[in-house]
Amino acid sequence: MARPAPYFAVRRSRVHGRGAFALRRIRKGTRIIEYLGERVSHQEADRRYEDRDPRDSHTFLFIVDARTVIDAGVHGNAARFINHSCNPNCETVIEAKRVYIEAVRTIQPGEELSYDYQLGRAPDDPPDADEIYACRCGHPECRGSMLWPPRKSARNVPQPAKPAVKTKRRAPPRGRGQSMTRR
Ligand SMILES: [Zn+2]
Repeated sequence: MARPAPYFAVRRSRVHGRGAFALRRIRKGTRIIEYLGERVSHQEADRRYEDRDPRDSHTFLFIVDARTVIDAGVHGNAARFINHSCNPNCETVIEAKRVYIEAVRTIQPGEELSYDYQLGRAPDDPPDADEIYACRCGHPECRGSMLWPPRKSARNVPQPAKPAVKTKRRAPPRGRGQSMTRR
């Protein structure tokens, strides 16, 4: 069987670092890519990144469940380049402890792929955590931060997070309301 043409290419993004850009039209509901990387315990993820610069906003850790984190910094694939957006065109779906990125609407060629990271807050976050994790997705409803929940003082007061697509087969992808995690 011929391999299908790739859905996206990775190149520099105005939003953050590098991003993933659609190479062709991607229909709503398409499973675009699996989020791959080494599967480690939360404890191991903590150990790996405890010395990370707190001002470094790059994160490649995805929470699968209470036991497992995927570290895309090790054996990760191009899924790790998909950026955060407050109004994303993709969502993450967890099935049998594997994480997939799926389109929540039809995406046109050239559009940057994104999902909502909903990074959790930590009690020891520096006061400028929202600046470090600033979102530049440019959407009118941008909450200005990749962190969740938003600070009450945020200028753009967002609506509560609502999954773009609800189907019974899809478990909510996030333990405690988050998917990506910082360490
Ligand atoms: Zn935003």
